[in-house]
Amino acid sequence: MENCIFCKIIAGEIPSNKVYEDEDMLAFRDINPQAKVHVLVVPKSHFAMLAEMNEAQAELVKKCLQKIPEIAGKLGLSGGYRLIINQGKDAGQTVHHLHIHILGGQDMGEKML
Ligand code: AMP
Repeated sequence: MENCIFCKIIAGEIPSNKVYEDEDMLAFRDINPQAKVHVLVVPKSHFAMLAEMNEAQAELVKKCLQKIPEIAGKLGLSGGYRLIINQGKDAGQTVHHLHIHILGGQDMGEKML
């Protein structure tokens, strides 16, 4: 997708600090971390909203979710972690390519983020 920063990262046109990649997904460190460990997991297919994904994209999201425990293990998040998917303006979604935030490496407290 033209002008999508995450599509450009997936295509290797913009550098990223990758922590995992396969044919379906990419995981890389957030450029503006909100926790000691902050990684984004993105399906390689471009879509912004869960509400608009097709069956194949839903399958990719499932694969991302199934892979996250392994990625979290590689990141050393043995104490747990928080997952966040921002959807739309009120949630503060700034990149319109679906992504799952993995946050951890510290006590995350009871706050939202
Ligand atoms: P969201 O607000 O849920 O749309 O999250 C978008 C996230 O992408 C933010 O946490 C940004 O810091 C992060 N981000 C934006 N550009 C980059 C980039 N080039 N590399 C890594 N993370 C990025």
